[in-house]
Amino acid sequence: MSLPSLYLRRRQERRVQRGHPWVFSNEVAIDRSPLTAFESGDCVNVFTHSGKPLGSAYVNPHSLICARMVSEEIDCALDETLVQDRLDRALALRESLGWLPDCRLVYGEGDRLPGLVVDRFDDVLAVQIGTAGMERMRDAVVDGLIERCRPAAVVLRNDLASRELEGLPSGVEVVHGEVPAFVRLRENGASFEISPLEGQKTGWYYDHRQNRAGLARHAEGRTVLDCFSYLGGFGIQAALGGAPSVLCLDSSESALAGAVRNAELNGVGDRVSVRRGDVFDSLRALRAEEQRFDVVVVDPPAFMRRRKDRRAGLEAYRRLNRRAMQVLAADGLLLSASCSFHLSAAEHQEIVAGAASDVGRWAQILERGHQAADHPIHPGLPESEYLKALLVRVAPV
Ligand code: SAH
Repeated sequence: MSLPSLYLRRRQERRVQRGHPWVFSNEVAIDRSPLTAFESGDCVNVFTHSGKPLGSAYVNPHSLICARMVSEEIDCALDETLVQDRLDRALALRESLGWLPDCRLVYGEGDRLPGLVVDRFDDVLAVQIGTAGMERMRDAVVDGLIERCRPAAVVLRNDLASRELEGLPSGVEVVHGEVPAFVRLRENGASFEISPLEGQKTGWYYDHRQNRAGLARHAEGRTVLDCFSYLGGFGIQAALGGAPSVLCLDSSESALAGAVRNAELNGVGDRVSVRRGDVFDSLRALRAEEQRFDVVVVDPPAFMRRRKDRRAGLEAYRRLNRRAMQVLAADGLLLSASCSFHLSAAEHQEIVAGAASDVGRWAQILERGHQAADHPIHPGLPESEYLKALLVRVAPV
């Protein structure tokens, strides 16, 4: 059986030819292969304008990213067999990393399963399906995961804004077993209780695993301010690393309640406190109160979700890093993170350097961190590499 054909426009085929796995709707030769002829989720063979095969993809004619490559071979539909094979490979990688059971099991294109994210928390799986093409494989995905991981429960955390762009309904659905209100995971020797049903994203940000461990190694004897703390991932691991006091800042009441619970769970409740508020305002207030910290972590949500957010986003990152440095003790350490793909690593570094110069200090980069290996980067898809973390010593001039 041969799949229908999708032809690219002349001069619009280079990126995909070089291994980028997305086709944008303006790149399709609609005179030869009208997108309207396809249903969301159909599989196609992709060809250059001159007819050279580029591989197989699934399509969504209603989305700006109208096709996502699933294979370099033609006639390779995303079907049950391919899904099972890709799940096997994804799980084999996680076996080899040694972080099981608590890690990300599937990271979309990085595991050649575009549109699928799976996080594991002990024996609970949280699954996110982001595209119409993957939605068609929903049962194969869920059954394949149950067969391989034998989880107690599986929840679809399909409360994703991106599903709307794909014409899919959003919501949270338990599709296997019973999901408890809280599940306990372990990371770098610390324990965290998270909510797979109501937590942010899937419930936990595994991408910072190594950056949290890196920070904890510098925490001994140092006071810590954890901005955008969520459940205290950085702060609590710093406390376990020997920080005598940690202040977690977040705007979310439930996140801070979780941070308090998790501090107690790890036996550092007496050294971890929380403060609710907007980080920008709180940093200003802390400065006015003349509070200083030996370590400040800033791990904000993405300030640039889209390219059009760039200007406002750059300004927000600048302001944030400046204010963070203003509450940093002499020779203090700043862990500055960004999860915006649209902010490059070089720009992030410039922002940190610029903030230091604005506040009359100078910065030394000690360590450069990125997303953990359970978020493997697709080498042809720059968008799959998003997380940056700089550990910077901010010295007097
Ligand atoms: N550092 C965390 C993850 C941060 S996610 C970890 O290691 O797991 C971003 C967090 O920032 C969320 O908890 C969200 O509630 C919080 N947040 C977003 N905007 C904020 C703001 N302006 N002020 C304070 N907190 C904010």
